Amino acid sequence: MPRTHANLPRLFVPSALIAGTPVDLGKEQSLYLAAVLRKSVGDEVVLFNGRDGAWRAQMTSDSKRSVSLDLIEQIAAQPAASDLWYGFAPLKSERLDYVIQKAVEMGAGTIQPVLTQFTQVSRLKHERLVANAIEAAEQCEVLNVPVVAPEISLSALLETWPSDRRLILADEGAASASPVERLTQLAGEKLGILIGPEGGFSDAERTRLLALPYVVPISLGPRILRADTAAVAALAVIQATIGDWR
Ligand code: SAH
Repeated sequence: MPRTHANLPRLFVPSALIAGTPVDLGKEQSLYLAAVLRKSVGDEVVLFNGRDGAWRAQMTSDSKRSVSLDLIEQIAAQPAASDLWYGFAPLKSERLDYVIQKAVEMGAGTIQPVLTQFTQVSRLKHERLVANAIEAAEQCEVLNVPVVAPEISLSALLETWPSDRRLILADEGAASASPVERLTQLAGEKLGILIGPEGGFSDAERTRLLALPYVVPISLGPRILRADTAAVAALAVIQATIGDWR
């Protein structure tokens, strides 16, 4: 991937990015640019909003309360949205932040916390998860900011699961053969990937999952991985075999 303008600060903004329409930053981002990064009138940044690609923009005001910018040129078109659904049993604090960041970097389209029997976290700060996803997108030049869905129970998830979407289950009990062959058979299909909590799925949950026609269990090798490792490993093997690494 060509890295143009990699040295410029990248900011996610909620507003539309349209040639000729100036952008005013909110308080927090203004303070960040003007005070923390000490940027001033004439300095450039890259703006994106998850819809209108990436734009080179130039500061026309460096007030610490409200920085204004003019859009100069679009430097990247908005890529097609990722359709990859990523479900995981939420982990505690830093490791929760970690899995959100990694899911953004690995190209998930939807990030869905799923509450299972052995999940140790039940209440999530949705705003924090969204802020984390945005920050990861800013850092890693990801223009598609995934949708972070509010948490849902595994039962509710399965009751509403669309029958035309496959659900790849990271299953440490699956026959330990390479997942590559199994995944290759799913090329072109709508996909989701589900990772269990630290304690794994309960026997009842696993039995229920494995009985569903759309569930495809895969092994991630002969070792038990921690849930956050399993998430990255699963997303990597999916992207490399049937996803956007090809
Ligand atoms: N069952 C274990 C470990 C759970 S690991 C226990 O009793 O503690 C957490 C999650 O990571 C699992 O639910 C599974 O989704 C995934 N995972 C870990 N190692 C895996 C492997 N080798 N293959 C497939 N999935 C794995």
